[in-house]
Amino acid sequence: AATDFDFESYITDIPDYPEPGVVFKDITPLFADANAMRQAITALADHFRGRGVTKVIGPEARGFMVGVPVALELGAGFIPARKPGKLPRETVSISYELEYGTDTLEIHADALEPGDRVLIIDDLVATGGTVAATGKLVQNMGAELIGYGCILELAFLNPRDALAASGDQELFSLV
Ligand code: IMP
Repeated sequence: AATDFDFESYITDIPDYPEPGVVFKDITPLFADANAMRQAITALADHFRGRGVTKVIGPEARGFMVGVPVALELGAGFIPARKPGKLPRETVSISYELEYGTDTLEIHADALEPGDRVLIIDDLVATGGTVAATGKLVQNMGAELIGYGCILELAFLNPRDALAASGDQELFSLV
């Protein structure tokens, strides 16, 4: 763990959700507890403080919950990464492989500038597909990818292998 705080005790295992055989990690109890939420946001922001982060990107929807307060703490802007068709202006998009099929994320085409230093934040990193694709999108736009942060990393799914494909940026997880 990154700090002595016991983040794990605020994350609940939900068996057979959203389908049989899957154990879903529910982070809503952590956000429902004022102190646990503050500890998590502060720990993530502290880790990336002083690295000149100008923008935080969070994939919908739990990436918004974590990414916005981290951005505020860092004095950075926040950019939502959304499923296709949700953003009102011109977008750039990236598609990535799922176990069955593909998924796509979009951000506004003018959201990043070449000098931006970008941190990608999500609640949970499983295979790493979501944050890796978001990182590639950042690099495609000519901005600098600083790293990835999350509350919970499912290390047994080897997300660091997926992230290595787009560079050696750090993944920092609280649990
Ligand atoms: P990945 O792309 O396989 O790394 O999956 C991570 C994405 O799926 C994140 O945006 C998570 O919010 C979501 N996700 C996957 N599994 C879980 C879970 O057990 N709990 C909460 N979110 C999950």
